[in-house]
Amino acid sequence: MNLAVATGEPSLPNTRTFTRREPNIVEMMCLGSSTKDIAPELEISFSAVNANIARACTKAKVTRKQIVMFSLQHSAALEKGGRFSPGLHDPECPCNEPHCKGMRRVA
Ligand SMILES: [Zn+2]
Repeated sequence: MNLAVATGEPSLPNTRTFTRREPNIVEMMCLGSSTKDIAPELEISFSAVNANIARACTKAKVTRKQIVMFSLQHSAALEKGGRFSPGLHDPECPCNEPHCKGMRRVA
């Protein structure tokens, strides 16, 4: 994945990348899976799942409740090697991420 691929997003210097496990877990959370579902699926312990979620939230600078919204606004974050800027987008954000565009269509 190349930085130049990012569409509409200003290329900020402080972008982050999730490690191998973190995007899988966040994606499963997006699909409604709980820690209890994720642990046996990935064959890791509950505490390992929680540690990965906590680390992903710290990197993304969001709470555990916000991580699903975050991944909708930063679709590149779940791609392998995808870079993202920490934090949620504001309600008036003009970017082209699916969630932001969706919100504008509704509004
Ligand atoms: Zn946005």
